[in-house]
Amino acid sequence: MKIDFSNANVFDKESLKGKLSSLELPSVAGSVIDFSGYDILPAFIDVHVHFREPGFSYKERVATGSLAGAMGGYYAVCTMPNLNPVPDTLDNLKKQLEIINRDSVIKALPFGAITKGQNGKELSDMEAMAPFVCGFSDDGRGVDNSSLMREAMIRAKALDKVISAHCEDGAQIKDSKEAEWKQIERDIKLVSDIGCKYHVCHISTKESVDLIREAKKNGVNITCETAPHYLTLTDADRDDTGRFKMNPPLRDAIDRDALIEGICDGTVDMIATDHAPHSAEEKGRGFKGSLNGIVGLETAFPVMYTSFVKKGIITLDRLVHLMSINPANRFGIETDGFTVYDLNEEYTVNPEEFATMGRSSPFAGNKVYGRCLATVVGNKWAYISEKIKKDI
Ligand SMILES: [Zn+2]
Repeated sequence: MKIDFSNANVFDKESLKGKLSSLELPSVAGSVIDFSGYDILPAFIDVHVHFREPGFSYKERVATGSLAGAMGGYYAVCTMPNLNPVPDTLDNLKKQLEIINRDSVIKALPFGAITKGQNGKELSDMEAMAPFVCGFSDDGRGVDNSSLMREAMIRAKALDKVISAHCEDGAQIKDSKEAEWKQIERDIKLVSDIGCKYHVCHISTKESVDLIREAKKNGVNITCETAPHYLTLTDADRDDTGRFKMNPPLRDAIDRDALIEGICDGTVDMIATDHAPHSAEEKGRGFKGSLNGIVGLETAFPVMYTSFVKKGIITLDRLVHLMSINPANRFGIETDGFTVYDLNEEYTVNPEEFATMGRSSPFAGNKVYGRCLATVVGNKWAYISEKIKKDI
């Protein structure tokens, strides 16, 4: 079975040409599938996901999370270290890598923890883990101790690894805007001095955008991500269910608009999902009682495409930079995947159809454009949709 890509809209044809011509569908010989009218894009990279293994396989498994990634058009994800055991030593990290090597259908690149047990008190075994991690993060909580963060940055710089910071100052009111931007402000001072590769997770406030824009102007080695929900929703959109509960929380329209300005002018470098599945029970306790975290791998591109590219706010080229090229460059991830999208297909987001074990999405019921038909990682098909299979 050969695929005919000749009439597809191929993004950056030169770089994908060789790869496309060598690809065959497994097990069926003879005929040709015509991909005319579909878009072939560099596959995406999500630098912020939670795959929950080892330790919390009732929430998500590497097998299900990675399939969700493939079904969203991703070929690589960076997984956060709030696991059990926490990857804070090489031995602990190896337990996670074993599961990834066995079960992941896409590239899953772990973050090592910045501090032991993510407790913010003592640095992890960064040197031993460095060859096997995409960077270091204590995602879920901020590193409040400045001198410890400073030491982590010095060591990350020597190892040429990214520090990916969940900025939340524990001395401020929980969920306040200050908790986020005050720690970013502190870290910018540290990075200006030390010069390590510093990346801010899921920014959600106008002040964060302003601080990072200014820091970039001053030549600070800083990048940041935001998530589709902070760009498309505000606190006013939420109901009383757990599907709007995440950390940081949804903010107001001023913050959302500042983030949109940030993706337009390049202050925000990348879109990450913070894909964070929980069980139905953990998300079924209403807004107040539910755990923080929503799923996002299967909706990120369609939501971004529908809300911003279709409306002419950003170009498809810019979205591909935000979701693939920029994260690849910052985290030093080799780009070797592509995804096939039908950008004309409109459908309603239905969490029951997700591959992830999580069902909690603020986008459930939304009409979106853009159906992922297939994703290739290296020379392998990580995902082929039923629609394509039917044509075989
Ligand atoms: Zn976080």
